[in-house]
Amino acid sequence: MSITIESLACWLVDIPTIRPHKLSMATMGCQTLTIVRMQCANGITGWGEATTIGGLSYGAESPEAIKSAIETYLAPLLCGQTFSGPAALADKMNAHVKGNTFAKSALETAFLDAQGKALGLPVSSLLGGALTTRLPVLWTLASGDTQKDIEEGQRLLAEGRHDTFKLKIGARGLDVDIRHALAIKAALGDEVSIRVDVNQAWDLTTAIKGMTQLQDGGIDLVEQPIPLWDRQGLIALSQRFAVPILADEAVSTSHDGYALASGGFTGAYALKIAKAGGPVQALKLAQVAQAAGVALYGGTMLEGTLGSVASLHAWSTVRMQWGTEMFGPLLLKDDIVVRPLDFSHGQVTLPQGPGLGVDIDEEKLRYYARK
Ligand SMILES: [Mg+2]
Repeated sequence: MSITIESLACWLVDIPTIRPHKLSMATMGCQTLTIVRMQCANGITGWGEATTIGGLSYGAESPEAIKSAIETYLAPLLCGQTFSGPAALADKMNAHVKGNTFAKSALETAFLDAQGKALGLPVSSLLGGALTTRLPVLWTLASGDTQKDIEEGQRLLAEGRHDTFKLKIGARGLDVDIRHALAIKAALGDEVSIRVDVNQAWDLTTAIKGMTQLQDGGIDLVEQPIPLWDRQGLIALSQRFAVPILADEAVSTSHDGYALASGGFTGAYALKIAKAGGPVQALKLAQVAQAAGVALYGGTMLEGTLGSVASLHAWSTVRMQWGTEMFGPLLLKDDIVVRPLDFSHGQVTLPQGPGLGVDIDEEKLRYYARK
């Protein structure tokens, strides 16, 4: 069903985190969601979100730049235009705007929300149909303090909320990081899956040393240990170690996925709608991975509920061998949706209503929107 875009509005929404979230490149005390409202013909409204982590310390697009790209370049391009579907929308955006995948992701999400509402179908149905309505979700322990992380992990295990944890390492010396990871693994026990994310912080020599110790210590997965540009290094590590590598920053689009897999990479790819330019674009990377026998993982930019749900609709249509990390809304002190997502027993429920299946609390949106 064709959708005519009438207007676009954009807000920067600042929501504090429940605790400092320590990554290799930044510590987050607040998350900024770039929220988009797409007003369409026939009174239909689509909502989208573009969110990044750590300002410009993580990637090339900041929340402010995403908002500016949408308002200055993409809105004039799209408003007043009719699109038959997300393929036509992406074609138009890519023909006139290079890169800016976060901004494009928010717009593709809003479009899918509007189209789903117009058709009375959930977004997952527009993407091939959900294989499941409950998706696994791990939790990231990243307080920066080993004992606090152990206590947080034990509490979440006791509450039955999560049974798999990811640790953020790479900001400190290798020995400190390895002690930290292995102490948490030992404290939480053999039944609990522990993965680490280095966020590109090591060079290849450090990675070989670190991965040897992590593998011996029973860590299940090592995410992006070396810089995104070192494709050959990532391929070599994936072939050298039994502990699998999760490529994250190194794989944004299907082209990246093809280059890594054809070079001999084994392991898994972290899909993220923001890296690829939207849910439809992220699934193109999934298809390349499936064709190459590379496993899949549903990644987050620590989005709020809108961005997390948009991702979940896409992730629900493929087999995620390593599960997902769509816990972003749980890291935020508040939300801008009427009904929060249902997280329990290490899983989250995919909303079933038309579009994203999420209603925006516009009063909350106004309250948290940057003035
Ligand atoms: Mg990562």
